[in-house]
Amino acid sequence: MPELPELEVVKEVLQRCVVGTQIARVEIVPPGGAIVIRDLTRGDFSAALTGATISVVARRGKFLVLSFPSLYLAINPKLTGRLQLAGRSDKRMAKTHLVLALSSGDELRYVDQKTMGQLYLTRDLNAAPDFAGLGPEPFDISRDEFRARLQKYRGEIKGILTRGDFIAGIGNAYADEILWHARLHPYRKRTQLTPEEIARLYEAMQRALRDAVEQVRAEMGEQIHLKPRDFLAVHMKTGEPCPRCGAPISLVGANQRITNFCRTCQPGGLIKGM
Ligand SMILES: [Zn+2]
Repeated sequence: MPELPELEVVKEVLQRCVVGTQIARVEIVPPGGAIVIRDLTRGDFSAALTGATISVVARRGKFLVLSFPSLYLAINPKLTGRLQLAGRSDKRMAKTHLVLALSSGDELRYVDQKTMGQLYLTRDLNAAPDFAGLGPEPFDISRDEFRARLQKYRGEIKGILTRGDFIAGIGNAYADEILWHARLHPYRKRTQLTPEEIARLYEAMQRALRDAVEQVRAEMGEQIHLKPRDFLAVHMKTGEPCPRCGAPISLVGANQRITNFCRTCQPGGLIKGM
């Protein structure tokens, strides 16, 4: 479930800790090949990475990309994947699927409880599914561009915010947070939003994501397998008091698709699933 704020901080940590290091050894668990690994080069995944030096670490949407000379490892952790930086002798977490032993003595591990994520080895990033169609990054888009892009989408505003082709990096959790900051009901139709509300949504997106990056940076440190979210205002806070008005936070939906919001601060909208 990592979204832009978590992956942004993971990127920063990896830029400090792994850029310039060489992959000394690749271990795939199980040895026959973890199902999270997709080798688009149709070569030998381990052989291609062994001895390669990590030259760049970048984030694009909900992908984390390790660049090697003429090769990329594009990691899309989806709902349950995460990376871990560990010493060689540190006990492995359950469901560790890939271990990259680095020349620094550390290990970069990919852990995924439900094997939902994907790791694409490719020479062309646009060949990785969902990568080429990503919309702009939230921090790179102007208010006017945001407004213009939004005009192409119909339906409920929360659903639009989580579409990677509209804007990259926002998932279920941060869409809830952004809409709370904007004081907009998650099921408001885009076509019902006034220009003033769209401007508020844009400002809320910037603020919610920037604040979250700072919070995650402070709480995560170099423990990149953690997902600090205790500071969120509404997501996963069902029944707790709204930080703005004190009313209990509402819940709609179930499992990974839940929506949390404040009925007092975020009025209106057609309530579905109730
Ligand atoms: Zn409220």
